[in-house]
Amino acid sequence: MKIIMLGAPGAGKGTQAKKLAAKYNIPHISTGDIFRANIKEGTELGKKAKVYMDQGLLVPDELVVDLIMDRFKQPDCVNGYVLDGFPRTIPQAKALDEALTKNNDAIEYAIDVDVPDEEIVNRMSGRRACVACGATYHLVTIPTKVEGICDVCGKELILRDDDKPETVLKRLKVYHEQTQPLIDYYREKGILRSVDGTNDPTTTFNNIVKIVEAE
Ligand code: AMP
Repeated sequence: MKIIMLGAPGAGKGTQAKKLAAKYNIPHISTGDIFRANIKEGTELGKKAKVYMDQGLLVPDELVVDLIMDRFKQPDCVNGYVLDGFPRTIPQAKALDEALTKNNDAIEYAIDVDVPDEEIVNRMSGRRACVACGATYHLVTIPTKVEGICDVCGKELILRDDDKPETVLKRLKVYHEQTQPLIDYYREKGILRSVDGTNDPTTTFNNIVKIVEAE
């Protein structure tokens, strides 16, 4: 099963991607998480990516495409994956198609988690991420058991730089300009499916499962 999650930053696609990956026993591949791990480790890639991420801009396509192609070579990808945050531009989508076509392979579904901008801004200001393991929560919708402390590893939670209001507005602008065209791209390919992302996460997940299992 090969699935792409689409949606604005903060639409909840990461949460849904993780749940899908767990249900179908395939990896959840988040380019954002990979970049954040590289930043934490102080790698060259991390240093380059941080400059763009801190400004709410996209990391250049060539850095992202090489990274994801490497990730696909890992043995855990043999039964598929859920892509979260990739592709984010038409050139990235084309690079992905090209790589898959070479192997006689294709993406089954591109699932768009649809949420209006106003709600995104409200949501992102409540988002919190673990400094250590990267797990994400929300003050209202996905609270931790102990306020400010990660349920998974017990470390402190922070508001990520790229979730700060000024950066969120920039990221939404970037999303509309560079990523939203992917919705038409996948619609034309006949694999786009949309879900209403304003529902609670469990309802949204059930709707996604219906899509994935329907055909
Ligand atoms: P995310 O956690 O998916 O919201 O990603 C956080 C940031 O990482 C984005 O705002 C971008 O700066 C960068 N990033 C993640 N994935 C990509 C991608 N596919 N193309 C370009 N930049 C990306």
